[in-house]
Amino acid sequence: MVQSSVLGFPRIGGQRELKKATESYWGGKSSVEDLLEVGKNLRAKNWTAQKEAGVDIIPSNDFSYYDQVLDLSLLFNAIPERYTKYDLAPIDVLFAMGRGLQKKATDSTPAVDVTALEMVKWFDSNYHYVRPTFSHSTEFKLNTAAGIKPVDEFNEAKALGIQTRPVILGPVSYLYLGKADKDSLDLDPISLLPKLIPVYKELLAKLKEAGAEQVQIDEPILVLDLPESVQSKFKEAYDALVSSDAPEIILATYFGTVVPNLKAIENLPVAGFHFDFVRNPEQLEQVASILNGNQTLSAGVVDGRNIWKTDFAKASEVVNKAIEKVGKDKVVVATSSSLLHTPVDLETETKLPAEIKDWFSFATQKLDEVVTIAKNVSGEDVADKLEANAKSIKARKESSITTNPKVQERLTTINEGLATRKAAFPERNAEQQKKYNLPLFPTTTIGSFPQTKEIRVSRNKFAKGQITADEYEQFINQEIENVVRFQEKIGLDVLVHGEPERNDMVQYFGEQLDGFAFTTNGWVQSYGSRCVRPPIIVGDVSRPKAMTVKESVYAQSLTKSPMKGMLTGPVTILRWSFPRDDVSGKIQSLQLGLALRDEVNDLEKAGITVIQVDEPAIREGLPLRAGKERSDYLNWAAQSFRVATSGVENSTQIHSHFCYSDLDPNHIKALDADVVSIEFSKKDDPNYIQEFSDYPNHIGLGLFDIHSPRIPSKQEFVSRIEEILKVYPANKFWVNPDCGLKTRGWTEVQESLTNMVDAAKDFRAKY
Ligand code: GLN
Ligand code: ZN
Repeated sequence: MVQSSVLGFPRIGGQRELKKATESYWGGKSSVEDLLEVGKNLRAKNWTAQKEAGVDIIPSNDFSYYDQVLDLSLLFNAIPERYTKYDLAPIDVLFAMGRGLQKKATDSTPAVDVTALEMVKWFDSNYHYVRPTFSHSTEFKLNTAAGIKPVDEFNEAKALGIQTRPVILGPVSYLYLGKADKDSLDLDPISLLPKLIPVYKELLAKLKEAGAEQVQIDEPILVLDLPESVQSKFKEAYDALVSSDAPEIILATYFGTVVPNLKAIENLPVAGFHFDFVRNPEQLEQVASILNGNQTLSAGVVDGRNIWKTDFAKASEVVNKAIEKVGKDKVVVATSSSLLHTPVDLETETKLPAEIKDWFSFATQKLDEVVTIAKNVSGEDVADKLEANAKSIKARKESSITTNPKVQERLTTINEGLATRKAAFPERNAEQQKKYNLPLFPTTTIGSFPQTKEIRVSRNKFAKGQITADEYEQFINQEIENVVRFQEKIGLDVLVHGEPERNDMVQYFGEQLDGFAFTTNGWVQSYGSRCVRPPIIVGDVSRPKAMTVKESVYAQSLTKSPMKGMLTGPVTILRWSFPRDDVSGKIQSLQLGLALRDEVNDLEKAGITVIQVDEPAIREGLPLRAGKERSDYLNWAAQSFRVATSGVENSTQIHSHFCYSDLDPNHIKALDADVVSIEFSKKDDPNYIQEFSDYPNHIGLGLFDIHSPRIPSKQEFVSRIEEILKVYPANKFWVNPDCGLKTRGWTEVQESLTNMVDAAKDFRAKY
């Protein structure tokens, strides 16, 4: 009997219970016990759901109160000193590393003020992990202050009568995905492997003692281009970890092909491997050839990254091929990756049209998929399920909802001319300078202002029909006015309307574009407690009518300062949606580019002549390996952006924005935006700043971390600007935060921005 396996399950809860519980704890509204209780219930619920679905191999330690990589840093004692000096409870150390902590002194406790660790995208997904940060003084050991999470959770499941397979990120990936702390920049994290291995060994021994038979160790960096020096580490690590004192190890990779790194894993003594055959079925042939006859092949055939129903016939074919290669008793049917990246349960979607709903499968439904495929290839009778599945796959293929001939025709009109501004940057810059007459060190923000409770309540009321469209519009206008007045008061130069009308920067556009479907509850964790509800691209995309003009025009009517129109770019809409799997990313992105072009042109016509088109996701879309696929991506991504933004006059100033940017300055150059802002406050490496110094257009290197409630002082801004000015010229220098302010509270925003603007004014006086 071929077994079924799940690599990880979403932990936020079907109703975002975990988000609510952590935020309530952070807000001082509930106790740590309350929070732990919610976590425990969620874990029990997830395990039970998997057991009831008939999944054979159920993961544990896939849960986290913030981020699974950060959990490891806490457990391995990779805690920079600045977080340990306040005597915080372990869970508060975890949260302080994840999101920073600033607390006034009380009679019994000292003031706390630490910034968060850097947070970066998890491969090419929209999940973010907290970057392990090492220094020469890092001393790995099992930090048992809060128990031993993987062991405790294993025991917790066992107590419920459920045998699980703990999941742990592997040592090579853990180190490689980390970085050196600012006091130890000469440290190469991978050199710490010999010190880390004994701690993994200790952990594995404890898991074995607790009764774990197998562990899933993830080494996702195996799908990246790895230097020889890193490739060789796998042998070193797994020769040491595989032992009779440890559970069997299944080494898991996902999100791509391991073929170029096959050498690195060829002779590892592990009990088996997991590969992602959704993303890369072609690798089957080669990866199967390295198995030694005793090793398990876990075949990832149910997509952990998207919401389309698995085609049972196709998936079974892949698994059967695997069986042919290595034998029935060695094959496991699995999800391609953790299901973390998919919403919890399709059943709670009551508003999706039945025709479309039938095409989808969320995490809970995917449990049934792995089980059914496993049964099918084992020869059990699942004819009913196969038949129903084949029917929905066919219905989707033949549906008229997915095609729009007009859009397809317009796509053929795209050429370089359509994607090129009328003049080059120097000429545009001169015209823009004449028009706006901005001072040196112009100040601006990235778009959103705090999404307060009132805003959410009002939006909900409107959605439920409890207030009229007019009432809602009045409310939004009032919010816009408050934001405008505040910005005028503190002296910002280029204003924004604050985006109060937007639930989410992608969802908001998805809901107004044709070709999209949306869920009411399809939340996916993005980072920490932050969840997003990605829209789903089901067909050809077009814009039936203007999407943002009304709010921007209203905001501009309130002020003489330039008002930035605010749009989400084509690549970001694509990346932060669940994309179609029946046409290429390029086609979807160009269709979005055309739809946004109409919006940009409409904004300009309405007098909004500073327009920001956000592309925070452009980096994460980068194919994980260098080569043709990557250069093709960069071409069509930049082209889609330029299709959207090149229809305007020279004097119209196009801005763009990028987050979490391990960006290559060349990639942003290709967009030819007049001004770009990038998330930067966590970047300490002077070489990295240097890389941006010859960026030809204007640039704002983000000056403060908006993921943290912490307020930087004016002096802090001054120092940071001075540091950047050492390598970056003043005449191209914009002053702005890292990103939008929607998740922050008003008090923090008021103080931070005031300090930022005051610092800019100082420099203006000096230059
Ligand atoms: N304009 C958006 C905002 O301010 C940009 C957010 C983002 O880059 N993620 O919220
Ligand atoms: Zn951003």
